[in-house]
Amino acid sequence: MDCPRVAIFDLDDTLAESFQPPSASMVVKLSALLEKVPVAILSAAGFPRIEADFLHKLTDSPRIDFFYIFPNSSAQCFIHENGKWKSAYDFLLSAEQRQAIRTALDESVRETNLELNPKYEPVILDRDVQIAYAALGLDASEEDKRAWDPDKAKRKRLKESLDKRLPDFEVLIGGKTTMDITHKGINKAYGVRWLSKKLSIPASEMLYVGDAFYEGGNDTVVIPTGIRTRAVSGPAETETVIDELLNFCA
Ligand SMILES: [Mg+2]
Repeated sequence: MDCPRVAIFDLDDTLAESFQPPSASMVVKLSALLEKVPVAILSAAGFPRIEADFLHKLTDSPRIDFFYIFPNSSAQCFIHENGKWKSAYDFLLSAEQRQAIRTALDESVRETNLELNPKYEPVILDRDVQIAYAALGLDASEEDKRAWDPDKAKRKRLKESLDKRLPDFEVLIGGKTTMDITHKGINKAYGVRWLSKKLSIPASEMLYVGDAFYEGGNDTVVIPTGIRTRAVSGPAETETVIDELLNFCA
């Protein structure tokens, strides 16, 4: 691997376990990498969680203005300017669109007989630009999350059903138990193309590191942009990838 001109990371199950903050050593490594190349995070997570979990630990970096955050599956972008995080764009869903998505979710969950874990209540997270469905809620143990849909078969069924009901929206499988729904065409590929244009760097000279490169996975969609990709099994492997990058990026 040589040094990419931009390093982009997925968050959940790449930089951190799903819905958990990244480890202290991961934050130190990201900060070191930011000294060398622009860094971006493309995540299905919302901005408040990303900010509270670790962004505040990076804002002292002299290169923080080269750190790009694309929350909600790239439905938004935040850039640090003059000491503050500022929105660069966002693709809001209207009240009617959000209602249509909730209705479709209710119907499709029923139709596909998802075999939910009775220990947990599913949760719908409405973040204005994205609706996320967490099949085991937010507090399930890592073990239960991992056991629920290991081959993604349940969520592939759910996606197929939702795609029929919501042809004007993007339906993506992410993490271990979640589905994310945004405007059609708004997914991580949109974020990659936007950043490529913003920095005038071809996608082929950037690197994307993520865990969900399976069919229908929320990282798979970046492949057609021509970006180089690296699949990881989780945060431990991501740390070794960043170590390699720190070696290659002088
Ligand atoms: Mg992920």
